Amino acid sequence: FLKDRTALVTGSTSGIGLACARALAAEGATVILTGFGNPDDIEKERRALSELSGTEALFIPADVSRPEDNTALVHEITDRLGGADIVIANAGIQHVAPISTFPAEQWDRILAVNLSSPFHLMQAALPLMTAKGWGRFIATASVHSVIASPFKSAYVVAKHGLAGLVKTAALETAGSGITINAISPGYVWTPLVENQIPDTMKTRGMTREQVLSDVLLAAQPSGQFVTVEQIAALALFLCREEAAQITGSNYMMDGGYTAR
Ligand code: NAD
Repeated sequence: FLKDRTALVTGSTSGIGLACARALAAEGATVILTGFGNPDDIEKERRALSELSGTEALFIPADVSRPEDNTALVHEITDRLGGADIVIANAGIQHVAPISTFPAEQWDRILAVNLSSPFHLMQAALPLMTAKGWGRFIATASVHSVIASPFKSAYVVAKHGLAGLVKTAALETAGSGITINAISPGYVWTPLVENQIPDTMKTRGMTREQVLSDVLLAAQPSGQFVTVEQIAALALFLCREEAAQITGSNYMMDGGYTAR
């Protein structure tokens, strides 16, 4: 149902973003990949996505912590493909440390990637979506857009801010054919989660197994990780015509995490 649509997914070289790119391509969308990674792996994935969708997927390199890279990304898509109909602002990073020793440069970088990038992408992409009378903007937020955890100050702040940005943008575009929503996962098994295990082990003085059972899955009542395919299925639903009246929402997919 996405034939003739273009879809930019930031952070699509890994994890949730890659699963979203695959789901969109499977529905015929022309997918634009961006993110860091091994060039050979990215090229392999780009070809696989092209085959899946039947249209040529693009990879456009960008460091979304830089405002100008976000703008350039959207402009290049506009020049080459006539605009991004779907934008999934998904790139995100994490750093785990107490506020007293939280490195200031990590604070700045997390806010730049997790919060300011979606803002710059909106600023660049929304005018064309408005002109076309159709658009879907989805931000990958987190349960940390509505609750806090210790040692994740920058992440919690960025994701709370992102939830506010999504609501504001939804109000500014309501009735225009554009919808703007957030998806808020609990713990999803991806490199982002795997990579924070060593820091959490150090900060809390725990073994790897203790971090998994006492920190990660202890917070998630289902006791199970969310899968990237489950997140992608929700993103795909938000792109459907049936979802035209869903805007300004923030969907938890968290195994009951925020129900406590
Ligand atoms: P991941 O580490 O697997 O992927 C992150 C992606 O972002 C990668 O493609 C990476 O290259 C890209 N990226 C990071 N910094 C970038 C930059 N400066 N410029 C361009 N690309 C950059 O992580 P993931 O778990 O798939 O996370 C995706 C999103 O989901 C993030 O916003 C994250 O906060 C959110 N999230 C993840 C979980 C989880 O449990 N994994 C839970 C809640 C929310």
